[in-house]
Amino acid sequence: MTTMSAINTKLPDPIPRKLPIASLALVFVVLVCASIILVQGWVTWRAREVQLAETERTASNLARSIAQHAYSTIKEADTILVGLVERVEVDGVTDSNRERIHNLLVKRVKELPQLHGLFIYDEQGRWVTNSQDILKKNANNSDREYFIFHRDHVDRGVHIGPPIKSKSTGEWIVTVSRRFDHRDGSFAGVALATISMDYFKRFYEQFDIGETGAIFVALENGTILLRRPFEEKSLGRNVSQLPLFHDYLPKAKIGTQTFTSGQDGITRINSYRKLDQYPLVVSAALSRDEELAEWKANAIAHAIVVGCLVLGLAMLGSRLIRQIGLRVRAEAELLKTRNSLEQLNHTLEKLAMQDGLTGLANRRQFDIALKNEFRRAMRSASPLALIMIDVDCFKQYNDLYGHAAGDECLREISKIVAGGQHRPGDLSARYGGEEMAVLLPGTDLAGAALIAESIRKAIYHLELKHTGNTAGVVTVSAGIDAFVPVREQDRPLELIEAADKALYCAKSQGRNCICSGQGKP
Ligand code: GH3
Ligand code: MG
Ligand code: MG
Repeated sequence: MTTMSAINTKLPDPIPRKLPIASLALVFVVLVCASIILVQGWVTWRAREVQLAETERTASNLARSIAQHAYSTIKEADTILVGLVERVEVDGVTDSNRERIHNLLVKRVKELPQLHGLFIYDEQGRWVTNSQDILKKNANNSDREYFIFHRDHVDRGVHIGPPIKSKSTGEWIVTVSRRFDHRDGSFAGVALATISMDYFKRFYEQFDIGETGAIFVALENGTILLRRPFEEKSLGRNVSQLPLFHDYLPKAKIGTQTFTSGQDGITRINSYRKLDQYPLVVSAALSRDEELAEWKANAIAHAIVVGCLVLGLAMLGSRLIRQIGLRVRAEAELLKTRNSLEQLNHTLEKLAMQDGLTGLANRRQFDIALKNEFRRAMRSASPLALIMIDVDCFKQYNDLYGHAAGDECLREISKIVAGGQHRPGDLSARYGGEEMAVLLPGTDLAGAALIAESIRKAIYHLELKHTGNTAGVVTVSAGIDAFVPVREQDRPLELIEAADKALYCAKSQGRNCICSGQGKP
């Protein structure tokens, strides 16, 4: 069926609600920025881990060399003490050999740079001999910790005492001592080697431990023996309450831990080790912040560079996304315009093929359809029927009721005529004036006559008053013809002429009737 469909067909909005390509670009830019930040973050974090591991290694090596140094320093002094004890126990110290022993002590002190002095005290703590030039005859050291220790302990092993100030020189010293006995095993006195604190200080100062790094050597019981930074008040102090002594040392002789000092609030990486040979504990601590300072500076510099890069990327990305958005919108607008134009074209096309008054196909469309259907009928050797309809005495209708009423009448009639179409190929058209045509492909004369008759009747039953017509109402006459067109013989015009002729016949038979043509054999 070729009736006109509604002109203003609503097309879908061509502007997509989402802009997938812009969204993709956004996701891409976000991903790139996030990846850069993540990679940089990871690299920075790894650098921190590496730096901390390096610091732990440094602290551990530091603790090892301090322990080694403490061991060899004390071992050298102790070796002298062992010889001295043996000599004193065998030979004793008499007026005859005192000078020789004195000379030996002086010589030994000169040999070993760490030695501050060598001393021998009798069981009363009196000075027997020592490495000093003048022997103070009435001096007595029985109040010293090392003397009391040996007097009260039968143990003949080496004893390392807390740091003290030398009575002879006023210097800070570390004491290493051994007891010697009488032949009966009773306490006979003490052989003492004092080691200059300066010797340790000079050694410790060689290490770069930063501003807040710390080194200490303590006795097993937590008494500080040596310390860097050197502070008199901390020498001899007991630090056994530190986690190092009560948490870590009981578990492992060597270890590295990170903890924050309760005193200065500084977090340090502490490496400690307990000496196997002497009751000493060594600790080297490096400030975590100081060790990470360079890493931190690098991390900040890199973060600034990466931040600028990401910012630049984000700005470029957002511009790009905006451009894409604009382009997509422009494309959508173009699409919308194209659709509108197509729709307009379609409408114009329809209008060009439609009769303005009746809405039926116009003469132009009819001519095209007739040509096409004629060809099709030829190809398929099927009949093609045409009904030509003419309003009876229409001139008079116009004269009686006016041209506008005539138009309205034509519209009413055309509705009935349009209803005569039943198949897709059927076409009802305004042929001209008050004349209409119905083209019926695949319909023979009898079929067309039925349709024509039903149209005629329907119009009659409209009962549109027409006093100028014999029937008193508006009627139509129709001429029909139908045949199977033959190639090279028949032309479309022949069908029109034949139907027209039949129409003329109907008119001449008194109107309000239909007349069939002869058709063709
Ligand atoms: P009959 O066909 O029965 O022989 O008589 P008739 O009066 O219809 O004769 P004719 O075909 O000569 O007249 C046709 C009239 O139809 C002439 C014209 O005024 C009128 N007419 C043609 N087209 C239109 C139209 O579009 N509107 C109106 N109102 N009248 C039209
Ligand atoms: Mg006419
Ligand atoms: Mg007429």
